[in-house]
Amino acid sequence: MSASVQSSTVRDNPTQEEIVSQRKSLPDSLKPPLPNEMHVGFRNGCRATKPFLPMKTVLPGLRTLRVGRFLQPPMLCYGWPVTIEDLVDIADSKGFLGAKTLDKTVPALSRIDFGDTDHLLHHVIRDELGIHSMIPEIRMILPKSKGRELIVCLCTTWNDVWDTADQNPPQEDVAKIAAHLGLRKRDAKWYMDCDDGMWAFRTFESIPVPRNWTWKYGMVCYEGVNEDGCLRCKDHPL
Ligand SMILES: [Zn+2]
Repeated sequence: MSASVQSSTVRDNPTQEEIVSQRKSLPDSLKPPLPNEMHVGFRNGCRATKPFLPMKTVLPGLRTLRVGRFLQPPMLCYGWPVTIEDLVDIADSKGFLGAKTLDKTVPALSRIDFGDTDHLLHHVIRDELGIHSMIPEIRMILPKSKGRELIVCLCTTWNDVWDTADQNPPQEDVAKIAAHLGLRKRDAKWYMDCDDGMWAFRTFESIPVPRNWTWKYGMVCYEGVNEDGCLRCKDHPL
């Protein structure tokens, strides 16, 4: 088992002064919109954020989350962007494709069940690699270029916190996952989430924010998933 264990400590709720100071230090294009322009999502619009993405580390002003209903920063996702074709190929070869069909002539998007794939990926990371510090998932990110909008996401700024200096996840574990999935060609970085990648008024009941999805099975074609649920869960429940 990895020596790295995710911190369970809740980060201190920042004071109003800290929040103002950290947000003021952000580049203008990453700042929240002005109060009368909240529909925009960012001070200069979403497109203006592109030169700042992806990030190696998250700027402190984008981590100013607060318990309660407040203007909260966008969600950033840490990992490797992949096309849908890349993802299905990797998942198929590494045994975590939650397949809707085993017919490989079907287009990639129609072959994959994302809920099952998340679940099986979690088994691979935890049971095969022995890594317990992260809950991986497939998410959508704002596209940097056409066709590349998914990410093998190891953690997000909302749901995961580490006690490392830069608050990035344990790099030893990240390297192990990259090697196993064949993603060593580029470093994992932070990308803007597609659904929640903007400033908005949101209510958080705790920090980190608990993930709101549940493990479900949509389809039953993959060998590890059948009508009785996940076979791997029988020995090692997630
Ligand atoms: Zn399972």
